Amino acid sequence: MELQNFIDGKWTSNDELQTIPVVNPANSEQLASVPLSTKQQVEEAVAAAKKAQKSWALTPAPKRADYLYEIGHKLKEKKEYLAQILTKEMGKVIEEARGEVQEGVDMAFYMAGEGRRLFGETTPSELADKFAMSVRAPIGVVGLITPWNFPIAIATWKSFPALVAGNTFIWKPATETPMMAFEMAKIFEEVGLPAGVANIVFGAGSTVGTELIEHPDVKVISFTGSTETGSKIAELGGRHLKKISLEMGGKNAVIVMEDADLQLAVEGIIWSAFGTAGQRCTACSRVIVHKDVKNKLEQMLVEEISKLTIGDGLDPTIKIGPVINGAALEKINHYVQVGKQEGATLLVGGKSLTSPPFNKGFYFEPTVFTNVKNDMDIAQEEIFGPVLSIIEVASLEEAIEVNNSVKFGLSSSIFSQDVNKIFKAQRDLDTGIVYVNAGTTGAEIHLPFGGTKGTGNGHRDSGQAALDVYTEWKSIYVDYSGKLQRAQIDTEN
Ligand code: NAD
Repeated sequence: MELQNFIDGKWTSNDELQTIPVVNPANSEQLASVPLSTKQQVEEAVAAAKKAQKSWALTPAPKRADYLYEIGHKLKEKKEYLAQILTKEMGKVIEEARGEVQEGVDMAFYMAGEGRRLFGETTPSELADKFAMSVRAPIGVVGLITPWNFPIAIATWKSFPALVAGNTFIWKPATETPMMAFEMAKIFEEVGLPAGVANIVFGAGSTVGTELIEHPDVKVISFTGSTETGSKIAELGGRHLKKISLEMGGKNAVIVMEDADLQLAVEGIIWSAFGTAGQRCTACSRVIVHKDVKNKLEQMLVEEISKLTIGDGLDPTIKIGPVINGAALEKINHYVQVGKQEGATLLVGGKSLTSPPFNKGFYFEPTVFTNVKNDMDIAQEEIFGPVLSIIEVASLEEAIEVNNSVKFGLSSSIFSQDVNKIFKAQRDLDTGIVYVNAGTTGAEIHLPFGGTKGTGNGHRDSGQAALDVYTEWKSIYVDYSGKLQRAQIDTEN
């Protein structure tokens, strides 16, 4: 299958473009080919989005929302079909792929509801016979740049609030997972979204991404990906005075206190650390455990890990699918060697799987290091694979300090049955998301999603907060006194 760009409501030809294969990480089978677009396709898409934006912004928000309801229904209808493609191109197990499509359904209906809200404020004026209100105004054309690990959910977190608020967009998906974007474009076409409102341009970050950031008609860039790429985007976007929303890397921890329900903690850790083969931005890659329960927790973890099945995620009995590609395997292998050199103790795993039936795909064993010191690289850097570091602490205060000592701040979790510890932790953990008695993953779409420090730059995906990325606040004063009244000056009257 040859994927094509979707620009101005039309599928465009790849004739002049280089294409690259899209590969199933479970078995290296080629699934499709994707074009590497150039400046020209970005120019065309931006021109189409700009042209469409005026009438889209003037379309009543509840009518814009009707398209989102339709999109939500289509996603629901096609859930199984999309989940199968998602597993094939990205590798996550089918149950998680279905969950990811469901996230898109939920986001469509949630943001469609915004069509009848998009609340502003009314507030009293300090002067007589004067009315004051603020409204959300669309910004214009927005550029969306997304990663491969949630190829559909993250795009819906960004494109649906952008649309309901009256913006048009150009979406550049990751080259590893373009098939989900292609399927989304088909849905945009099927629901009859006006031409130019939603555009998809495939290609490399360094070309399509950069062109979008530099284009004077693209007013907002919403990016999810690594902190390294996000920093470059912030720098370039800053020079062009763009509004830049960044959702980036994580080094998320589960804290297990001495009074925790250990069975529950083990279940939460396994799901958060090894689900999606450790390739979630919210994946747990550190366990910060109280010394009194460390040995017991380790024994229980090792036992549970031995039950995890590895393989092609299309098989419903499989719990851990492949990682995305050979480069990811290399990076994970590198960090395992680093961990050994740093003096951490390898408790379980540590190897990629290279003999049949794994030899054609990219598989890594669930891996746990213990006796990890907080200043080791494996405790500080995002590995983005099924590798967990166990760090021992002696108190809640120390646990919080260790949690907060990394450069990222996405998600954290505490397992405890002591309400005082829990409330202290939720206050002091420096992350955008905190879980109590649950692992570090499992965000719901109606709450803000994002992180502190190196994870973000103050914006949020999801929830009401996402609307702030795609709207400007406009304050409107209506003076019906029939005379000149001067704010801050005529206040005595
Ligand atoms: P990545 O940074 O390599 O790529 C992300 C996107 O940016 C891709 O579409 C890529 O083509 C594009 N890109 C690359 N270089 C670019 C450039 N110079 N200019 C513009 N665009 C460019 O990230 P990835 O490997 O696809 O995804 C994994 C990373 O994403 C991890 O760090 C993970 O933690 C992070 N992530 C964060 C969140 C979050 O919400 N915080 C969610 C999912 C993933």
